Amino acid sequence: MTDIIKKLEVSCDASDEELKSLIDSESCDTALYEAADRVRRANYGTDVYMRGLIEFTSYCKNDCFYCGLRRSNRSAVRYRLEKSDILGCARAGYGLGFRTFVLQGGEDMHYTDDMICDIVSALKAEFPECAVTLSIGEKSRESYQSYYDAGADRYLLRHETADNAHYSKLHPDTLSAENRKRCLYDLKEIGYQVGAGFMVGSPYQTVNELIADLRFMQKLEPDMIGIGPFIPHRDTPFRDMPAGTLGLTLRMLAITRLMFPYALIPATTALGTISPDGRERGLRAGANVIMPNLSPADVRKYYELYNNKICSGDEAAESVLIMGRRIKDCGYTPVSARGDVRRGGGEPPLAPRGVS
Ligand code: SF4
Repeated sequence: MTDIIKKLEVSCDASDEELKSLIDSESCDTALYEAADRVRRANYGTDVYMRGLIEFTSYCKNDCFYCGLRRSNRSAVRYRLEKSDILGCARAGYGLGFRTFVLQGGEDMHYTDDMICDIVSALKAEFPECAVTLSIGEKSRESYQSYYDAGADRYLLRHETADNAHYSKLHPDTLSAENRKRCLYDLKEIGYQVGAGFMVGSPYQTVNELIADLRFMQKLEPDMIGIGPFIPHRDTPFRDMPAGTLGLTLRMLAITRLMFPYALIPATTALGTISPDGRERGLRAGANVIMPNLSPADVRKYYELYNNKICSGDEAAESVLIMGRRIKDCGYTPVSARGDVRRGGGEPPLAPRGVS
């Protein structure tokens, strides 16, 4: 197994059979995490980029079988933030040092393209040196282009699973893996820094689907890769399905770091939900991004994608202090700079848009 890890570390690739044996084996976890940590340090040093997350709407028109925000969930409490609320969250975040704001929400038709563009432009006008990341789901290419023209820098859209048949077991017929992939390629072509990613341990997933995820990302070459365990939500069709495990999620995270050395990889909230030290262990397995929540404390608990999502009622300032301390305790350095992707092993980041 150490030969496969070495091969991945040197060449960023391995055969399907080799990947399968690595994914299935628990015996080599320590060596795998150490290799992933070496690769992240070679590319990003000890930096851990802090992104300010603003979850601005819990409405969604979709009905994904695994998600607590699905439209069929009548128990979900829905909220929307106004533009002024979003700007207020960003102002507070800016004061705490954040230079990336991530606007995340369900696919909420209340926000027209003009409204999203207006919010993005206002953020860029007030915080020109900050990156604005959108994570608002599947849209037309024209919509993506309009957000980009308004100043959006990055877009997160996890592909969830690259296998078409598996995708259809997790989503209603109105959604397809093809369209999701079309969105990701559109975003890349437009010029966004693009984030893809997948769930680990989702219902009906086998090791073959996990390998398909890695192969899809080799083609797409996303700048950011989000990997989190599936966690069931009590008000969804998957309420009784087992959660993904910490061990398999960390193994996939470390393999991803070895295959995509340049990538920005978050230690996700879902990792921290299945284990109290999950995010720290994610950092040690190759993750280099943390996304503290800047949403107003009184609405955070309503953005419940899965059960028991960690959500402190702390004010943003306190959360940031705590996260910063935890990152340092792991031997890494919390960094509030924009933290653009670095391609080419230790090269300086790409120049931000509009900055020569
Ligand atoms: S996963 Fe996203 S698109 Fe699907 S129901 Fe949840 S918020 Fe909506």
